Amino acid sequence: MALLEVKDLKVRVEEREILHGLTLTVNEGEVHAIMGPNGSGKSTLSHVIAGKPGYEVTDGQILFKGEDLLEMSPDERAAKGVFLAFQYPVEIPGVATMNFLRTALNAQRKARGESEYSTPDFLKKVREVSKSLNIPQDMLKRGVNVGFSGGEKKRNEVLQMALFEPSLCILDEMDSGLDIDALRIAADGVNALRSPKRAMVVITHYQRLLNYIVPDVVHVMSKGRVVKSGGKELALELEASGYAQFEDAA
Ligand code: ADP
Ligand code: MG
Ligand code: MG
Repeated sequence: MALLEVKDLKVRVEEREILHGLTLTVNEGEVHAIMGPNGSGKSTLSHVIAGKPGYEVTDGQILFKGEDLLEMSPDERAAKGVFLAFQYPVEIPGVATMNFLRTALNAQRKARGESEYSTPDFLKKVREVSKSLNIPQDMLKRGVNVGFSGGEKKRNEVLQMALFEPSLCILDEMDSGLDIDALRIAADGVNALRSPKRAMVVITHYQRLLNYIVPDVVHVMSKGRVVKSGGKELALELEASGYAQFEDAA
């Protein structure tokens, strides 16, 4: 079943058109990679799907589970199961990661019409999930992302993803600023969340990440459009030949 359908999407930022008619379909259970040079509009697409303000959709459609996503507030989108892991996670000094997670998770459960977790249930759940992701308990006591290394920030994003149990995960350049060990740990966390009911969109500039998170479908974006789609071998082809070949197609 199609989980996400983006149809001929046109988006403007500050009067300038950034996405010029982008079409993309992601089915349940699939992992898609979106690759493309800097400035091709990858982050813009992920922000528009998540409902970040400042983007004007001038044409086209986004359906999520058959419903009009663009009609929903960012919170409604999250409650419906859309999760975006940011390229640059924000720091929230003074708010312990554990408390942040609990507030966010319970708000989301409430919006879904589910009951809030009791304190013991929440602690049990967080311990379970953080253990499986190799996240030390003392990291959860620190302020959200404050003084976290690149790898810790990504693991914190993966932890949120695991707790929220979204049906669509969008990972925007999760590899930026990570060394190989951190990348492998974060990728293992993402792989552990692959499931027949969940889809993932992995945005990356480099092929390297796709050695760890192996996609079912690879798309190339250039200048605000998807200009080519294929299997996982397309990523290797790109690594060898670069993006320049697509400049004309866009
Ligand atoms: P990518 O993630 O592929 O590197 P982006 O979506 O970040 O690309 O950017 C696509 C284009 O949109 C770039 O030319 C960028 O300068 C422009 N852009 C993105 N966000 C803004 C913004 N807030 N204001 C003005 N221009 C923007
Ligand atoms: Mg960029
Ligand atoms: Mg980007």
